[in-house]
Amino acid sequence: MNYYKKEKDRLVCLLCQYYCKLKAGQTGVCGINQNVGSHIENLVYGYPSAINIDPIEKKPLYHFLPSSKSFSIGTVGCNFHCSFCQNWQISQEHNIDKSRYFEPKTIASLALQKGCQSISYTYNEPTIFYPYAKDIALEAKKLGLKNIFVSNGYESKEVIDDMVGIIDAINIDLKSFDEKYYKHNLGGNLKKNLENLKHFRKNNLWIEVTTLIVPTQNDSDEELFKIASFIAKELGTFTPWHISAFHADYKELSLPPTSLQTLNRAYEIGKSVGLEYIYVGNVQYENSTKCSSCGNTLIERSYFQVKKNSLVNGSCPQCNKKLEGVFE
Ligand code: SF4
Repeated sequence: MNYYKKEKDRLVCLLCQYYCKLKAGQTGVCGINQNVGSHIENLVYGYPSAINIDPIEKKPLYHFLPSSKSFSIGTVGCNFHCSFCQNWQISQEHNIDKSRYFEPKTIASLALQKGCQSISYTYNEPTIFYPYAKDIALEAKKLGLKNIFVSNGYESKEVIDDMVGIIDAINIDLKSFDEKYYKHNLGGNLKKNLENLKHFRKNNLWIEVTTLIVPTQNDSDEELFKIASFIAKELGTFTPWHISAFHADYKELSLPPTSLQTLNRAYEIGKSVGLEYIYVGNVQYENSTKCSSCGNTLIERSYFQVKKNSLVNGSCPQCNKKLEGVFE
């Protein structure tokens, strides 16, 4: 795909839904894509700001190669500016440490060497460094590795279509169901996020959805019901929903942590609209995966650790129902 197009005296960035129209010298909302005159340069290309080996459950993905390791990278910059960001030290940073350049091939080889089955583009919003992520992902494919996006779901349509066959799974935030909240507190646009979620489903990527439940901001029964109903109706009741506990961070320091009572309430609301797999994150919680057909426990977890995986060829050993997701 083309990462930008020309429009009069400006270059339009095609990486995310902002479609920033940049004059020569200007940088977009994300702070890391700049019109350098002849083209838009992805300033972080080759310069990850964080590299870790994480359990895949930490992304979180619970129905995708359980208990495997994922080579996880992120850069500085983000197209959202959430006041409660838990990775704000890199996402809201625009200074790029250029002391070491990592070629896409190097990242893919490192992931393989470290015994990872996938590479995750995570920590900050990967759409904004898609040119780099894509080149790494193509190298990773050659080595038999999978690719994962952990995203706020604000990709451009062009990027979503380009991801087909390159990116295998995505965890997308659905942070709220309130248009004003998206616009003023996060930076995106609810309608576009919802359209993107449907677009991803149509393109057949494996999707898991995360909602960080922030006390007083998105935790009313009505809003949780709208979020859960959208997932059930538009993405399918088999789509895992991760409801995650908030803790004070970045600029949002006055709110209390999400109570267990609220998480349980969200869980019950999700169940009431038919969601089959709901997981509670950021707190001690059982989080086993049960067969949606016979109720047999298929995967037992403790935090990010899989304690027991009873799947046989990705299916329930008791009733043979195939568990939705990607398994070995
Ligand atoms: S990635 Fe998004 S925010 Fe950044 S320049 Fe491109 S369109 Fe703008």
